[in-house]
Amino acid sequence: MVVELISVGTEILLGNIVNTNAAYLSEQCALLGLSLYFETAVGDNEKRLEETLRTALGRSDIVILSGGLGPTQDDLTKETAARVMGKRLVLDEHSKARIEEYFQNSQNGQITENNWKQAMVPEGCIVVDNQNGTAPGIIIEEGEKAVILLPGPPGELKPMFERAIYPYLNEKRPETICSVMVKMCGVGESAAETKIKDLIDAQTNPTIATYAKTGEVHLRVTASAKDEKEAKKLIKPVLKELRNRFGSCIYTADENVTLEKAVIDMLRERELTLTTAESITGGMLAARLTDVPGASEVFKQGLVTYCNRAKRKLLDVKKTTLKDYGAVSEKTAKEMAKNGAFITGSDICLSLTGIAGPDAAEDKPVGLVYIACSYNGKVTVQEYHLKGERAKIRESAVVKALTLLRECIMADGH
Ligand code: ATP
Repeated sequence: MVVELISVGTEILLGNIVNTNAAYLSEQCALLGLSLYFETAVGDNEKRLEETLRTALGRSDIVILSGGLGPTQDDLTKETAARVMGKRLVLDEHSKARIEEYFQNSQNGQITENNWKQAMVPEGCIVVDNQNGTAPGIIIEEGEKAVILLPGPPGELKPMFERAIYPYLNEKRPETICSVMVKMCGVGESAAETKIKDLIDAQTNPTIATYAKTGEVHLRVTASAKDEKEAKKLIKPVLKELRNRFGSCIYTADENVTLEKAVIDMLRERELTLTTAESITGGMLAARLTDVPGASEVFKQGLVTYCNRAKRKLLDVKKTTLKDYGAVSEKTAKEMAKNGAFITGSDICLSLTGIAGPDAAEDKPVGLVYIACSYNGKVTVQEYHLKGERAKIRESAVVKALTLLRECIMADGH
């Protein structure tokens, strides 16, 4: 089944608003396993909207439109869709009552004459209540085709989609879909894509979609079949092949598991304890680790040693190291990790020091980061040149630290 999206609103074309509805709806269609080949944005212009809708209906089974359902003159979506689908507009008593009720309950109680326009619907359509506004959603079916009209405000569109449209599309779909999210770290997006280019090129069912996250790559494997069991059977060999190709870079195939949770689980299974010694990330690594319920079983302490004095006092970093090599150096990172583990009595200490910018420091470039991992007395240190602005560099550094920790544990043969 082929679905197509049309976002209506001149504001979108002018760049006044970001088309988040299209992003949301595309993602939902992908989750449903529906084919989506075209997405269009069109202004509040009747002629161009009609043309766009006719073209979409010529090549897709279901067209979803968002926006332009409001009470004002320039809200033309419903009138245009009704005309294209050959339907008259009739008063829907249920929507009229709901609009009345909505205004009675809201602060700005006055109903104006044009609000009744929102109670007019194409004859024979399915009306979907709007629990967060006045414009109802509308489904117009004609033969094999359907047009779905949704209100523009995301706060109205999303709950309506979740409650009524997702189940409607799910019902229409001839097959069941099932998907698995494979999450990886320690491999870049283009390297990952290159590694599975042949699989992506040849894909039909299951399909593989790649998503680049900060420091991570996620692959969604989606299969459609007559039932869930069949779909899972189709996914299994693809997962096996991905494991063959990416090996230990894959940290989970469970949608709900984050990298920090995977790391905490690894530590828990091996009964290892962890301390963090952070400079550039100022506690962000500790915050992510402690987001995981039960982290206290393995996470001992998080030290934020931002200035040189703190590095010396709390982590015993040598004055000469800081003087000769600087705070952002391999040697400092090593001493932070080694001493951090010793001082706190942890099996592992992860340390981070770097330059987040915007200004360079110590004659070193923005994005230069050293991360060290002291694991049972052995210290591994890595140098990174991270890209992006301050926030991105700090976030990337946290992911690199978690990735390095996984690698050190796995290199130990566990
Ligand atoms: P209303 O009943 O509030 O008039 P509507 O269905 O007529 O809603 P529009 O008038 O097109 O929708 O848009 C109303 C607001 O909804 C916009 O100002 C914008 O904030 C938001 N909006 C509309 N379309 C989108 C979109 N594609 N992505 C994100 N936000 C949108």
